[in-house]
Amino acid sequence: MAARAAYIYCGVMDLLTVGVIYCFAVEIFFLGMWLFYGRREYAFFEHARRKATFLCPRCNKLYAAPAGAETCACPRCGHENTRLKY
Ligand SMILES: [Zn+2]
Repeated sequence: MAARAAYIYCGVMDLLTVGVIYCFAVEIFFLGMWLFYGRREYAFFEHARRKATFLCPRCNKLYAAPAGAETCACPRCGHENTRLKY
């Protein structure tokens, strides 16, 4: 009954064509959402996630600071350290 109603409503297109077009539309919609939210997530959190690692030779404390910092003071003893390079 519903298939017949859809067939009548669509005119020249049959139900299979409408179904295929609908599936592609849904697929494109979700692909667009995935790309949009993925890029937004990357833009929001990537900078905060990236860290530079430091090791204090004086007190042997391993700590992190935001990326881009070449030197950072040790939070335990205050000694200025350069970042670890891998
Ligand atoms: Zn230290």
